[in-house]
Amino acid sequence: MDVLTLFPGFVEQVARYGMVRRAVETGRLVLSTRDIRDYSGNPWRRVDERPYGGGPGMVMNAEPLALAIEAARTARGGGTVVTMSPQGEPLTQAWIRRLALVPGLIVLCGRYEGWDERVASQVDVELSLGDYVLSGGELAAMVLIDAVARVLPGVLGDERSAVQDSFSTELLDHPHYTRPEHWRGQAVPEVLLSGDHAAVRRWRLKQALGATWLKRPELLAGLELNGEQKELLHEFIAEQKQELTGKS
Ligand code: SAH
Repeated sequence: MDVLTLFPGFVEQVARYGMVRRAVETGRLVLSTRDIRDYSGNPWRRVDERPYGGGPGMVMNAEPLALAIEAARTARGGGTVVTMSPQGEPLTQAWIRRLALVPGLIVLCGRYEGWDERVASQVDVELSLGDYVLSGGELAAMVLIDAVARVLPGVLGDERSAVQDSFSTELLDHPHYTRPEHWRGQAVPEVLLSGDHAAVRRWRLKQALGATWLKRPELLAGLELNGEQKELLHEFIAEQKQELTGKS
């Protein structure tokens, strides 16, 4: 992955810790940065100018960005250009899985008011972190790098852990518990201590369905549930209603 930015040192921080660090150290993720100012073509390393038509803020010039993209393409032998932008498609786990399979990913980070619109002709896909405006694309690129790194084969300590995560199954994750068994008046659900693997699997699936129903109902609406899943969701909903009405 090649990240084009005005702040390479900032983006490189993401590779200093945890899973991204492990992915880079083991060679599963090849991460490099490119300073857009190196392509300014002027001695002041200036890459922004005032907008045509007036108004506040500065606009990134098209040429340094195009040159940086071309240099990245040459170094990688081709590549898919992704820009981070509030106008992009939402960055979802489906996108992360897709991007993890792309060999020469080139990620473009904007600053100021963004770049000259004509740069769009050099871009393959525009992705957004969410409906808010950041001051630069670097944090968005770092989010993308982190999420991609953890789905690369062999990066997670336990391969199953990425599969069970929220969104990998299109459901939210089930709750997790660890020691101690009793903590400040709260006990771990009995079934998790039972050693009955089939019962644990059913409980977890039920909780995942339940969490999705409670917190993100619109995700459930888009899913075709199988017989077991429907049954477990009905059980969950019935239990919720019992709790609300105070019966047991
Ligand atoms: N004037 C632009 C915003 C520019 S913000 C607009 O309203 O569309 C400067 C840079 O921050 C952008 O070029 C982009 O790279 C990055 N950025 C801001 N918000 C973002 C978001 N929600 N997701 C991804 N990148 C974002």
